[in-house]
Amino acid sequence: MDIAATAGVTTTLSKLPSIDVLIRNVGIQDLISSNGAEPLTALAQAAVSSMRKDILSGDHDFAGRSAEDLLAEAVDRVRSACTAVKRTAIGRIINATGVIIHTNLGRAPLSEAAKSAILSAAGYSNVEYDLETGARGQRGRRAAQLAADLCGAESALIVNNCAAAAFLVLTVFASGGEVVISRGELVEIGGDFRVPDVLEQSGATLCEVGTTNRTKLADYEKAIGENTRMILRVHPSNYRIVGFTAMPSIAALADLAHKHGVIIFEDIGSGALIDLAEYGLDEPVVSRSIAAGVDIVTFSGDKLLGGPQSGIIAGRRELIERIRKHPLYRALRVDKLAYAALEATLGAYSRGSAETEVPVLKMIAASPDGLRARAGKFAETLRVVSSLTVETMPGTSVIGGGAAPDVKIETTLVSLVSSDRSAEAIEASLRSSSPPVIARIENDRVLIDLRTVSEIEETELSEIITGLFSNTAA
Ligand SMILES: *Cc1c(COP(=O)(O)O)cnc(C)c1O
Repeated sequence: MDIAATAGVTTTLSKLPSIDVLIRNVGIQDLISSNGAEPLTALAQAAVSSMRKDILSGDHDFAGRSAEDLLAEAVDRVRSACTAVKRTAIGRIINATGVIIHTNLGRAPLSEAAKSAILSAAGYSNVEYDLETGARGQRGRRAAQLAADLCGAESALIVNNCAAAAFLVLTVFASGGEVVISRGELVEIGGDFRVPDVLEQSGATLCEVGTTNRTKLADYEKAIGENTRMILRVHPSNYRIVGFTAMPSIAALADLAHKHGVIIFEDIGSGALIDLAEYGLDEPVVSRSIAAGVDIVTFSGDKLLGGPQSGIIAGRRELIERIRKHPLYRALRVDKLAYAALEATLGAYSRGSAETEVPVLKMIAASPDGLRARAGKFAETLRVVSSLTVETMPGTSVIGGGAAPDVKIETTLVSLVSSDRSAEAIEASLRSSSPPVIARIENDRVLIDLRTVSEIEETELSEIITGLFSNTAA
């Protein structure tokens, strides 16, 4: 930098507002009450120091700008930093992706009954108090009872998630012993749940049998020895082995386990409480495994079940009681809100109305005709935007959450193409709208799948989209 430029930079730096002046500016006052004075001061410091950096690097054209200009710029930077902070806070979004159990978007949206149960349990509640005796009661008793009944099991226990459930079961029953499992089931379920790693962490020794595609009953039988504590069956969930395959039935495995006096444990993962075959889903039904003789099953509360994040352990009473007494259970138990939401969700199954009450099941059950009609009407509401080409087209929704990876359900997509904005730009604007809308892009089109948008959100979604183009609306 030559001397004149250096002098220019020094002059510009001297015009930067002090933190004190910046946070007293009228443009900042509303942010003090919503963010708190201290956090706001930190953001103001960061804004000024980012400007100082920009001035020194010469990246920004600040030369010759007045102190008022720099103050206005600093106010802008503080305001956008506040917005960025706010956007990291958890909040409602509209899921227009068509992925029903979207792990990044909170998996199962809760039923109305589950939402109001959370509200009513949020204060003091009888989560662990027996209203009959006026003494301490069993924690989350009703939810566990409903889960057991719906699985046809003697007893059930609720923990944080299915990963916790499987880890707990392995720790309680297999630590220090051997667990026999087919090579075809040593799977990874979503990055941080790898069956071999979970087994190792639990203190059990893995005894793999068979091959990736074929494992026979005799393979299991040969592997059972003195140290064997358990036969483990894992539903591969997000992964399918097709073609030349073989696996013994769960009933045959249960018989084998019992003949040798070891436990048969099945980690089902997605956990369908009712048969979803009529919607094209070939997912294991929990009660069938219990009926086939499985001692313990584990499954997720927020996958196909459609409830809050939780893991359900169901099975023989004596085994469930041993888990309940283990110190690790205390560390993995759920809070009153999860019990409340799970109890309400299971209540819908118990009444036989899950398919009309539980959003995950409602979305799976939504008919192609109904979706086509909704998409057609919705598209019509967007055609007021002259710069937008709105079309409906056949497409597929997916179950998600690592369940039924091979199932594609027929839907109708609403496709958006703008004459003056890229698909990426539209997608990004949707994401920064309020509430944010998450959509997908395929072949340079923004695609909206109404399967995962509730009907009461449709008008709001339409207004958000047309609002993005308000400058160009006809
Ligand atoms: C999804 C899944 C898990 C993990 O369940 P979370 O509830 O996400 O912890 C464990 N096992 C299987 C077979 C699964 O499909």
